[in-house]
Amino acid sequence: EQEKVLVARQPKSSRLQARAVRSLAGGTTSSWQIHRPQPIWVSHGSGSKVYDVDGNEYVDLHNGYGAMLVGHGHPLVVEAIANRARAGTHFAQPTEDAVVVAEDLAQRFGLPLWRYGNSGTEATMDAVHLMRAISSRDKIIKIEGSYHGHHDSVQVSVYQEMPEIGPPHAPRSVPASSGIPRAIVDQTLVVPFNEIDVLERVLRDHPGEIAGMIIEPVMMNIGIIPPAPGYLERVRQLTREHGVLLAFDEVKTGFTTGPGGVTRLYGVVPDIVCLAKSLGGGVPCGAIGGSDEVMSFIANGGYDQVGTFNGNPLTMAAARAVLTQILDDGAYSRLDALREEMVAGCEEIIGKYELPAYVRAIGAKGAVIFSPTEIQGYRDFLTVDNRFSHAHWLYQLNNGVFLPPWGKAEQWTLSVQHTSEDVQRFITNFRRFAEALSE
Ligand code: PMP
Repeated sequence: EQEKVLVARQPKSSRLQARAVRSLAGGTTSSWQIHRPQPIWVSHGSGSKVYDVDGNEYVDLHNGYGAMLVGHGHPLVVEAIANRARAGTHFAQPTEDAVVVAEDLAQRFGLPLWRYGNSGTEATMDAVHLMRAISSRDKIIKIEGSYHGHHDSVQVSVYQEMPEIGPPHAPRSVPASSGIPRAIVDQTLVVPFNEIDVLERVLRDHPGEIAGMIIEPVMMNIGIIPPAPGYLERVRQLTREHGVLLAFDEVKTGFTTGPGGVTRLYGVVPDIVCLAKSLGGGVPCGAIGGSDEVMSFIANGGYDQVGTFNGNPLTMAAARAVLTQILDDGAYSRLDALREEMVAGCEEIIGKYELPAYVRAIGAKGAVIFSPTEIQGYRDFLTVDNRFSHAHWLYQLNNGVFLPPWGKAEQWTLSVQHTSEDVQRFITNFRRFAEALSE
């Protein structure tokens, strides 16, 4: 029913969709843009809002999969990009902005040396390569259910169905996509999040074989799961004891959870931090930061971290504006206040209508998770019924709020340009949705 309502409001979008399938595979530009009943064909964005080609306005809580922490068309980002565009956007040589950005990142994350790439995938790929290059070992450890991008080594045990994944405390490494060689999948060992004993056993069972561990320090791709008290500290300690490098994937969490990501929030410093998404203010970006020890391996030519567009001047100009002009303490206090308003509103509604759901939020990110019990890890997540979240997603969309399409997995991202009015639009819709459910 709600799908019909949506399609009726989007005649131009439907026509564009029909045209798109003839020249774009699947009618979209990424397979995760395919969702029912059709993608939002955006014409433009401004501040906290996006507009589809049919002229419908949406409060944007999808925010480009969480990359638009500064909101759309931020005047300072626009100015930085326009100035750079006039002065040339690509030379494959470093610019001063790249140094300013690295200096700022070093302050925020407590890691001295940086390199750039163009996406989160490239950041985690470089991290994995680097850990292997330094240790001359092939195996890595990742968390079951964590998404780190679409390169082979980390396309393992993400979004699989239940039967083939093995017992919870000894999960099998399962390819998460077609096209991933079994031989590579076998080099990736999988452990459940927040279960230190399993990690300890895996480290003990593979002496001298494991190059490093990659972990999203707050899990963000299966709802939102924070680390248990002491977990990250123990991960840091154990990896160090076993001579295994540790990389934090802060592609999602990097700036959205606070000025220096989870690294700063929890005060646990890994060997490598991976960044992307919000760093570029909407321009494609990626970065890895590391300790002197780790990054000297790049500096000395031990690992060639390369790419035609690395440190692209347009990206660097945008990132400089984002970091040095926008994401300051004031921005974070405003985001905190908005988050509190979101959470309080959601909790009130969940309580009042006794919905089988709960709210998790950290920094600019949050999610209503439609599960009666708290999701502790990937296994719980697989059992969540996503009919509620899809219905809620559609209801919000039909009432002017755009959330990520996978309600079960993806969360809202606020931006520095969102207002209390935007939050209230979401809350009002959620209340009406809850009312309709309880009728
Ligand atoms: N790591 C994490 C934690 C992510 O959420 C994502 C993307 N959602 C990536 C890496 C990959 O980033 P990209 O899509 O920019 O390649």
